[in-house]
Amino acid sequence: MYDYLIVGAGLYGAVFAHEATKRGKTCLVIEKRGHIAGNIYTENIEGINVHKYGAHIFHTSDRGIWGYINGFAEFNNYVNQPVARYKNECYNLPFNMNTFTKMWPDVFTPDEAKKRIEEERRESYKENPANLEEQAINLVGKTIYEKLIKGYTGKQWGRACTELPAFIIKRLPVRFIFDNNYFNDRYQGIPIGGYTAVVEKMLEGCEVRLNTDFFDDKENYLACAKTVVYTGAIDRFYDYRFGALEYRSVRFETEVLDTDNFQGNAVINYTDTETPFTRIIEHKHFEFGTQPKTVISREYSSAWKLGDEPYYPVNDEKNGKLYLQYKELADKEPRVIFGGRLGQYKYYDMHNVIREALNEAHRQLD
Ligand code: FAD
Ligand code: UDP
Repeated sequence: MYDYLIVGAGLYGAVFAHEATKRGKTCLVIEKRGHIAGNIYTENIEGINVHKYGAHIFHTSDRGIWGYINGFAEFNNYVNQPVARYKNECYNLPFNMNTFTKMWPDVFTPDEAKKRIEEERRESYKENPANLEEQAINLVGKTIYEKLIKGYTGKQWGRACTELPAFIIKRLPVRFIFDNNYFNDRYQGIPIGGYTAVVEKMLEGCEVRLNTDFFDDKENYLACAKTVVYTGAIDRFYDYRFGALEYRSVRFETEVLDTDNFQGNAVINYTDTETPFTRIIEHKHFEFGTQPKTVISREYSSAWKLGDEPYYPVNDEKNGKLYLQYKELADKEPRVIFGGRLGQYKYYDMHNVIREALNEAHRQLD
């Protein structure tokens, strides 16, 4: 009998397993995929760490979390500075003085940029923006909305900006200084050697079984440990009895190219409506790679159906209510902890996942 069965070798499961093992508990980790690390899995192709489930940039303002993750790898000084390509024009993101001066050649100073945005939003300003379109125009004016937001957001979410909640766009900084850093966080970087090595280190000393699905033998797995930490989908745990929670999915088209530098940046967003993908990732630039070849991934955002890889939880009212029904059942499970982005149906960044897993480990083990 193990102390803990951990379902899922993603970041949540690995942090929890590490903390439990460190305190002398016995853990069995089962993972349905053929590899560890969940969605932060990186695979080495042509000497380049390829982010197989989408680009992952570690960022946090929490000094404790930064210290914790640095215990498993050395981080480089990568700063995410994505570029937006709109037809034959290129702009810096997030929206900052570099964007404004390029968008409007007669704008040079913060005051001039603010004045221009003010003019552009005057016709349509809404005191309380009811949707993403209104919010975006309030923030950056109509031209930037049309060129850099409307098409990208429509592709990303499969819905018009008028049908989306305003808060989605509030994630992005708007700055009146020349600063292309996509994040406001104090700490940022990419683990040198890839994320898989980080998770491997976390799981040292734990028994890990790959290609092992909890639901192939649910009753026996539940019986094999005193406590179960479940990081799979919460609705699946209950056989979708109230219906399936919805996600947005992403399809990656990855290619090795015989050139050393395809686009000159790790992330280029395609913000027009016609280009079918949302962005192209050139993985080597996350680690300042100098390999002779390069690997790129085109990202296509897509609707999700049961059986597809779930990526982004859809945090609307309908799914929020459905999740609460499942959570009510989960709260009554004395021996099962539901953790991580699938277990808690939350869009957690990596630092949130580590914080959640450490808090749970503290509650359980100290
Ligand atoms: P997961 O990584 O999904 O791990 C869960 C594991 O459980 C999986 O390996 C799964 O196979 C396994 N599993 C599920 N069901 C079963 C079962 N029945 N039996 C056995 N195993 C099972 N965060 C950032 O901080 N920065 C970023 O730049 C960033 N970019 C992202 C880009 C994309 C496209 C996406 C989708 C997410 C991004 N994130 C980013 C978020 C990040 O991926 C998550 O915070 C993190 O991976 C969640 O870890 P987790 O352990 O909760 O989930
Ligand atoms: N966004 C946009 N244009 C861009 C980048 C982002 O309009 O070039 C919008 C889009 O609606 C997206 C939101 O800003 O959903 C948040 O962007 P972020 O990069 O944080 O999205 P993530 O993929 O990390 O959820």
